[in-house]
Amino acid sequence: MISSNPPKHQKSKALKPSSRRPAKELCSECGLCDTYYIHYVKDACAFLNQQFDRLETQSHGRSRNLDDDRELYFGVHQDMIAARKVQPIEGAQWTGIVSTIACEMLKQGKVEGVVCVQNSPTDRFGPQPVIARTPEEVLAARVNKPTLSPNLSVLEQVEQSGMKRLLVIGVGCQIQALREVEKNLGLEKLYVLGTPCVDNVTRAGLQKFLETTSKSPETVVHYEFMQDFRVHFKHEDGSIETVPFFGLNTKKLKDVFAPSCMSCFDYTNALADLVVGYMGAPFGWQWIVVRNETGQEMLDWVMEQLETQPVASSGDRRQAVQQSIPAYDNAVTLPMWAAKLMGVVIEKIGPKGLEYARFSIDSHFTRNYLYVKRNHPEKLDRHVPEFAKKIVGQYKLPD
Ligand code: FAD
Ligand code: SF4
Ligand code: SF4
Repeated sequence: MISSNPPKHQKSKALKPSSRRPAKELCSECGLCDTYYIHYVKDACAFLNQQFDRLETQSHGRSRNLDDDRELYFGVHQDMIAARKVQPIEGAQWTGIVSTIACEMLKQGKVEGVVCVQNSPTDRFGPQPVIARTPEEVLAARVNKPTLSPNLSVLEQVEQSGMKRLLVIGVGCQIQALREVEKNLGLEKLYVLGTPCVDNVTRAGLQKFLETTSKSPETVVHYEFMQDFRVHFKHEDGSIETVPFFGLNTKKLKDVFAPSCMSCFDYTNALADLVVGYMGAPFGWQWIVVRNETGQEMLDWVMEQLETQPVASSGDRRQAVQQSIPAYDNAVTLPMWAAKLMGVVIEKIGPKGLEYARFSIDSHFTRNYLYVKRNHPEKLDRHVPEFAKKIVGQYKLPD
């Protein structure tokens, strides 16, 4: 006999937007607690239960090999390439590979819907998660909303709609929670397309960052921390403003990043089937990490729209990382002329390709390790994954 009782989680109550989340100040507003899947929060929340090994094995068939330098840094993968769209999508964050994959999957009937994030009608950076059912709705979600975004808040609609094939686009903390609850969504097939993510902020934090760093914060339509060690701001009139990393006002910006993101070790989105970022690719190119066969399938559907090249690596990041640790810790800000000069020198002789990606991972993991150690010492051992401990262990850290 088939039981007509609804699954247990449907009886749980979503939290109201203003109420405190179970992860308290570490909550990254992933959206899970805005749904009845809050039922699973103790296991699913990235900040309450670190479980990379188990979820890597569930998603990719094995956990990462810590003795393989590439896997240690970039996670389980079967391929890695640099790519860009032959015809970039106007207004995308980079060349629009993420939006293209999602559009193609809808057009070819591989999925019925795509979880992605558009912007609110009143704020270009205000996140508004949706389940897109047409390529037009996917394209309306192109470009980063560089703020915490409750992407999983639409998950109840998936189960209620009876949808069987779904693509979810998201950042690491969202995907960790999604992997824990995916078996309860009633799907036949889930595809996960991830982007790397680091240094995210609340909407108020974003305003502070723009006002502290850009000459014209109100006209910024898009920004990125680029591989040339500069922040590139694109303005409404199409002009580009660049600010060297080393010239950022570290004192003012020290508390701008969300506590969740200061405690995050999932920079390269370990649990997605396919990851599309830029950090391991030459300037102007995107970086693609294929984690499993599902990811390969997704990439194959758009391959003819891409030009590609192998990933490369040059330079040695280690000394630069070691020097940057006390500089960040003491909130050292260089005068702009020195910052510009340093930017030019480091761009010429500094780490490139995968070595740049390692530079960025090392700098963020050491900073975040110190943050957790100082602010949540009781969580340190359990919350920091083994791969991050090994990476951080290469450096001498202040107390
Ligand atoms: P597009 O075609 O423009 O599509 C962008 C997609 O991102 C959309 O589908 C949208 O739904 C989704 N999205 C936008 N904002 C969010 C959000 N807040 N949360 C979840 N999903 C979102 N890559 C790196 O290599 N290194 C980094 O340090 C890095 N930091 C990032 C920080 C943030 C906050 C985000 C959102 C992304 C970051 N990325 C980083 C990824 C990178 O900036 C691009 O998003 C990625 O390369 C895809 O570019 P695209 O042109 O293919 O995307
Ligand atoms: Fe809930 Fe997500 Fe916040 Fe964790 S990060 S408390 S799962 S909303
Ligand atoms: Fe989530 Fe980590 Fe990105 Fe913050 S940095 S939004 S915690 S993936």
